[in-house]
Amino acid sequence: MKVILASHMGMCFGVKDAIGITESVKEPELVTIHGELVHNSSVQERFKEQGFHTLHESARAELPQSPFVLITAHGVSNAERARLADSGKQLIDTTCPLVRRVHRAALHLQAEGFFVVIAGRHGHVEVEGLIGDLRDYEVIQSPGDVRGFAHQKIGIISQSTTPPLLFDEICAEIRRVNPDREIKVIDTICAPTRERQAAVKELLGKVDALVVVGGMNSNNTRHLCHQAELRGVPFYHVQDEHGLDEDALLQHEVVGLTAGTSTPDATIEGVHKALQRLGKPRQHRPQEGKASPGG
Ligand code: SF4
Repeated sequence: MKVILASHMGMCFGVKDAIGITESVKEPELVTIHGELVHNSSVQERFKEQGFHTLHESARAELPQSPFVLITAHGVSNAERARLADSGKQLIDTTCPLVRRVHRAALHLQAEGFFVVIAGRHGHVEVEGLIGDLRDYEVIQSPGDVRGFAHQKIGIISQSTTPPLLFDEICAEIRRVNPDREIKVIDTICAPTRERQAAVKELLGKVDALVVVGGMNSNNTRHLCHQAELRGVPFYHVQDEHGLDEDALLQHEVVGLTAGTSTPDATIEGVHKALQRLGKPRQHRPQEGKASPGG
């Protein structure tokens, strides 16, 4: 079995910077991470072990007990920042600059009188942060969700990790279903997402199967899997090398490897090495330290 790596994959600068800021915190026991710092369980566990308090994404309405609150790379609404600050919390803000750009675009459209449509995933923390500052909006996940809007001016933006093709399809459908409206589109997909999406498309033309490494609730990781699904290429979504299904993978001659933007380099390396071991003729494969097959 041969393994080919995607030309762009893994952690983006936004996630790396958020982790760097968190690692520089001197007294982690005074800090609550406001949701999942990144959608990666190994990274989260590491920070918990260092003494950080954590708040599940679904519990962010609760007020943290600690004096400091760390805002994750996914960002929050200005309303949420104000709520925390008014409660006396000091904020450590790791919001990615490219998420801030999406917020600016949304507020700009609202200020110009547009009904704001976000091409993104319902309930995702980035989207929750965006809608927290909007009076009138709609979140559209797929072209099938598009409807006719009563508003004369429709402004469309994207969650930073929405695949470019999906965004184009949603925009086209909104234009088709709302033919007489003034429509303004601001493309707010981040560059790392574009690069990883383009790289996986190229890779899918060369492989029989794809291994995608990333958190199960990572939006951009899911979209990488979806590319394989669209092309009819079998894919395996794993969080680390322990999730590899060796028997299934051995059915393929050429396997591609890619990873979501919240996947640490060490995790990708672990999966890569396990795939390389698997690719060696069976009698030459080391028996010790071999990853156990998983689901
Ligand atoms: S995926 Fe894009 S928007 Fe999100 S943290 Fe990375 S660079 Fe920033």
